[in-house]
Amino acid sequence: MPISVLSVASEVFPLIKTGGLADVVGALPGALAAEDVAVTTLVPGYPAVTEALQDGQEVHAFADLFGGPARLVAGTAHGLDLIVVDAPHLYARSGNPYIGPDGRDWQDNPLRFAALSRAAAEIGLGRGGVPQPDIVHAHDWQAGLTPAYLVYDGWQRPATVMTVHNLAFQGQFEATLLPRLGLPAHAFNMEGVEYYGAVGYLKAGLQLADRITTVSPTYAQEIRGPDAGMGLDGLLRARAGQLSGIINGVDTAIWDPAADPFLPAPFSPKQMKGRAAAKAALQERFGLATNPNALLFGVVSRLSWQKGLDLLLEAIPTLIAAGGQLVLLGAGEAALERGYRNAAAAHPGRIGCVIGYDEPLAHLIQAGAEALIVPSRFEPCGLTQLYALRYGAIPVVSSVGGLADTIIDANEMALASGVGTGLRFQPTTTLALEGAIQRAAALHADQTVWKRLRRNAMATDVSWTNPARRYAALYRDLLGNRAS
Ligand code: ADP
Repeated sequence: MPISVLSVASEVFPLIKTGGLADVVGALPGALAAEDVAVTTLVPGYPAVTEALQDGQEVHAFADLFGGPARLVAGTAHGLDLIVVDAPHLYARSGNPYIGPDGRDWQDNPLRFAALSRAAAEIGLGRGGVPQPDIVHAHDWQAGLTPAYLVYDGWQRPATVMTVHNLAFQGQFEATLLPRLGLPAHAFNMEGVEYYGAVGYLKAGLQLADRITTVSPTYAQEIRGPDAGMGLDGLLRARAGQLSGIINGVDTAIWDPAADPFLPAPFSPKQMKGRAAAKAALQERFGLATNPNALLFGVVSRLSWQKGLDLLLEAIPTLIAAGGQLVLLGAGEAALERGYRNAAAAHPGRIGCVIGYDEPLAHLIQAGAEALIVPSRFEPCGLTQLYALRYGAIPVVSSVGGLADTIIDANEMALASGVGTGLRFQPTTTLALEGAIQRAAALHADQTVWKRLRRNAMATDVSWTNPARRYAALYRDLLGNRAS
């Protein structure tokens, strides 16, 4: 019998995505199928989700789920087995899943995501109109109350796993919310959902889940310390025995330079002509000089403090002096958007930026850039450097979290033994980033070395095969422990 898992998340690729969480939640079911694990994914019924759902069948009805009637609808979309929480009063709003048209969080987000967790718990307890899963696997704060509902409600609860994709987002809300959550009063204490006098959704999940995972081994270490721990480090130290890090894979069917519909021509390690075509297309798209030999750096990122792109702005004179070009695709903080627009205006032909979210263009950047810069201050796993490896854009990354775990720095030793795949720098400062840019320029100047780096990068296994094995092993271990 396969292990059955209910995966609970607020986004899932390709239906609804704001970041790496969606990619992981969308890719894991397919990868885990090969490990004899059957995953059903529970997601909120945003318009983008209900519209994509096929063969939807109502399996359960709630007379009142946090302010209105709701249904659980089981069906499929894009090969995923889904259960959708169809609650129009909470989710029938198009656009970003968390933010309203005024750019602010929806005021009822605490209830919207309590509802997701409540629905998950109903299914987990076998009351959701579908067979009870062996394991309920909650992702990020939006699903963080799931273990709490299960612990406080259920006597025959399934095993639970809580995965943190980014500890910066914690879902912390005023304690006055508590009576509306339908949790018992005694849940509000340090061993429960209480968090610095407030209700902490992620805290609840981390406290009460049987196992905690995060998305890289290094981040699993870092979050036990005060900097990356962001207030939760004490709890994570206390639960270190239940905490592990499993690096993410990428969907190698969608991110495949040999069969990518967004590229002008396919390419592969054996046939690299298509890469030159992508570089030319990219330079043209961003209004850069179409020089095939230019050291073209790329960035695809949210523009937020976490991602360290203020440091890259400061490093632009160095990048220009090193002969580099730069293309940036991103959206986020207004000051950074402005900064990159100004940089592009100040360096026509050398720097270009597109402010916005553009999936096809993200593919073209990975395919056409010589190097991809990721100067994150912290990075739980990071996906863009994995796409870069696969597409042969040499990652230039800060040495934190998953970036440290996935990129082998091309230092003297690594070059001598032919194992480098990118450049790492630390600490995450402008100075260190500038050093890495200069080092990249020196390596790029020797095309034999650069091509070797690129071959190594493209040969790196970034698929879900190994991570899926690790998750399956975790699930088996968890079930084994409970049985004994
Ligand atoms: P995070 O989840 O913290 O934003 P990750 O590197 O884990 O960072 O994942 C980011 C994902 O979002 C990648 O798939 C990346 O290609 C995509 N992405 C980020 N910004 C953009 C953008 N402006 N346009 C298109 N894709 C983007």
